[in-house]
Amino acid sequence: MTKSIVFAICILITLGVFSYTAFRIFRFFKLTKAYPVKDWGKRFVVMMKVAFGQTKIFRRPTLGLMHALVWWGFIIILIGSVEMIIDGLAGTERVLSVLGPVYDIITSLGDVFALIILLLIFAFLFRRLFMHIKRFSGVEMKHISHMDANFALSLIGLLMISLLGMNTFYIIYTHSAGHEIVGLFPVSTYIAGFFGELSPQQSFLWHEINWWSHILWIFVFANVLPYSKHFHVFMSVPNVFLSRLEPLGYLPNMPEITDEVKLMMDPNAAFADPPPEEEGQINRFGVLDAEDVTWKNYLDSLACTECGRCTAVCPANITGKLLSPRKIMMDLRARMKEKGPGLVKDKNYNDERSLIRSYISEEELWACTTCNACAQECPVNINHPSLIMDMRRYLVMEESAAPGELNAMFTNIENNGAPWQFSPEDRMLWAEGLEVPLMADLQAAGKTPEYLLWIGSAGAFDDRYKKVSKEFVKVLNHLKVDYAVLGTEEVDSGDVARRAGNEMLFQMQSLMIIETMNMYGVKKVLTACPHDYNTFKNEYPDLGGNFEVIHHSQFLSELIKKGKLKLNANGLAGKKITFHDPCYLGRANGEYKAPRVVVSAVEGSTMIEMKRNKSFALCCGAGGGQMFKEAEKGDKEVFLERIEDVIECKADIVATACPFCMVMMTDGIKYKNREEDMKNYDIVELVSIGMGI
Ligand code: SF4
Ligand code: SF4
Repeated sequence: MTKSIVFAICILITLGVFSYTAFRIFRFFKLTKAYPVKDWGKRFVVMMKVAFGQTKIFRRPTLGLMHALVWWGFIIILIGSVEMIIDGLAGTERVLSVLGPVYDIITSLGDVFALIILLLIFAFLFRRLFMHIKRFSGVEMKHISHMDANFALSLIGLLMISLLGMNTFYIIYTHSAGHEIVGLFPVSTYIAGFFGELSPQQSFLWHEINWWSHILWIFVFANVLPYSKHFHVFMSVPNVFLSRLEPLGYLPNMPEITDEVKLMMDPNAAFADPPPEEEGQINRFGVLDAEDVTWKNYLDSLACTECGRCTAVCPANITGKLLSPRKIMMDLRARMKEKGPGLVKDKNYNDERSLIRSYISEEELWACTTCNACAQECPVNINHPSLIMDMRRYLVMEESAAPGELNAMFTNIENNGAPWQFSPEDRMLWAEGLEVPLMADLQAAGKTPEYLLWIGSAGAFDDRYKKVSKEFVKVLNHLKVDYAVLGTEEVDSGDVARRAGNEMLFQMQSLMIIETMNMYGVKKVLTACPHDYNTFKNEYPDLGGNFEVIHHSQFLSELIKKGKLKLNANGLAGKKITFHDPCYLGRANGEYKAPRVVVSAVEGSTMIEMKRNKSFALCCGAGGGQMFKEAEKGDKEVFLERIEDVIECKADIVATACPFCMVMMTDGIKYKNREEDMKNYDIVELVSIGMGI
């Protein structure tokens, strides 16, 4: 009875402190912006796969297995903890033993996992304390972060020691008192053998000491976690459940901008009244400070385990730039902790500081290539690029604070319909000497082609990529594909403007293009540019543009698979060809197979992989607007880091399937003086060589 009363008091204190902490954090969530959640069924599947199945952790199999064992062990041991709480309150003994054989399974697994976790905790502590693991360091990893991690690991170790101690003395006690053992404890039975004879009183006392210390460590753990990086133990499962379901390349639309753009395009358009501004609420475009983020962004920051997997794969960070995606999450969490209490008391609270600049510099934000490697890697499905983009949106639309080169690029798109200073009239110069059907001509003749061939700004104006456009058209003509281009009616898709934060310009371009495409009755869009492919496929639907979008790698691979396209060696015999995955085809849209089908089809050549390939592939460094500006300060350019992967795998040819990647790979080859023995071809160029056209 006394034990139950003391236990109930301990539980009440634990719940009281925990509720206070939860209430404080909940108030911060109320300061943030909406984030719509639907598709509960799909979310459940993602949660089972990513959170319980630990699929992302297994991307690095050895370490993944170690972490997954700890996590799965925790879940099993949690069942035992629930039993202890019931026993403690009700004064019962091993209440779940009513489960019979299932109880034997639970107890034996719990016992084995306790030992496994203990050993792994020692291994993790050893790695942290004595091995130099790069991803555990960084400007954001202050001494306190390491102390925090080591403290939490030690606490878990103590939990396991007390659990094994409890089981061991339970076995010794039941033996010495002549009782029957309930449950199975293979590890503890073995350990019990080392203790020799103990009286029932002694063993009972040691059992109680371990029982109490185990449950009290759990209570301490539960209340320390919200103040440590190990808060993710609570937050990771909900965070994965609520994570984005869209492809990684998708950026959420800004409906408030759509209204403004539509009004600019048609001043007579009528719109629903905008939602009334709440008192004290600042309706900014994008994110300046902690209260501008969505509650999901804030949840992301709380779920971050500080593992550094995101930063370890970030091309900007790898090449010595300031950007670290982990820091972005830690900064948001810290800023909310700093400003949240003031905002809770007064919605107009202003401490003259902000997330941008006081925590995250503009230099960090502009270094992002939007490659999505961080989001791909994060074990708890945090999405960093969308938050980075929201901060860029603030800088561009509220402060006009983009780097000068990007402002020039915006002006070019506005004036010329292309990111460079070319006349819109010159958009078809690339096609000189070729027969390229125009949509307008076909419409005049009462025809609608099956495909709109989208050339894209690089395909029309970049000297190297104009050659790719030509080869693509030659292949289509040879295969008698029913297609047409927009010609001088084509304008930039706006993708690069959106990634550089200019949502207004993106939406202006998109709405214009959607109108043109709808006017021509376009159903299928074929393009060689993965950036335009991504934005047409994933983002235009938000603005009313619904088309079937096909990347040229997918189109060509289908023809190869159907046996309609055969690629002879024609000078490529004996060549070793590697493929550089474009971020916006690969990670952004999960297409790794199609380009490999094309490359592998070249007769007599060998397809080889770089060490970083498919979803692990390193960005070329051109995405997210980088193509149009100087890179931020660092140790190295990203394209050089990537071309070294090509050199390392001893390829003769690096194949690409993106205009930006082509520019970067070509520059890399030049920079490394390898023009003699290394070539860069787009996959459609390999096809035209193979076809001998
Ligand atoms: S999207 Fe790429 S460049 Fe940007 S933070 Fe993530 S990993 Fe780094
Ligand atoms: S954001 Fe994800 S990958 Fe990056 S440190 Fe946090 S948990 Fe790890």
